[in-house]
Amino acid sequence: MPYCSRCAAPLKDSALESCWHCLIRFAPESKWTVVDDPPFKFQQAPSSNATEPWRAPRLGVFGRAIIAIPVWLVLAVLAILSVAPYGGSHPLVTLWLLSTLVLPVWVLLPLMSKRR
Ligand SMILES: [Zn+2]
Repeated sequence: MPYCSRCAAPLKDSALESCWHCLIRFAPESKWTVVDDPPFKFQQAPSSNATEPWRAPRLGVFGRAIIAIPVWLVLAVLAILSVAPYGGSHPLVTLWLLSTLVLPVWVLLPLMSKRR
């Protein structure tokens, strides 16, 4: 079985132009070639799934809504409780009003970035 001389990945055939794993090209002028014996034990890097680089899992709109709705409700309850006995304004009311504006934007961000 042929192997990549750079990363020791097993190759399907020795006529390949490049390595599927480390993506180097096997050219006559390249110092990396296809070899019959692996130069070392092949270990696929956990961070490289061949071509797909690892990406942090991103929260979808529903995932964000599940977080945002309780946060908004808790802030609303705190804001109401902080104001109810006295009336007037309180930093929590400002925070709640701010969250009313910011949380929907944050929840809908994945939709906006997908359209770009
Ligand atoms: Zn390779």
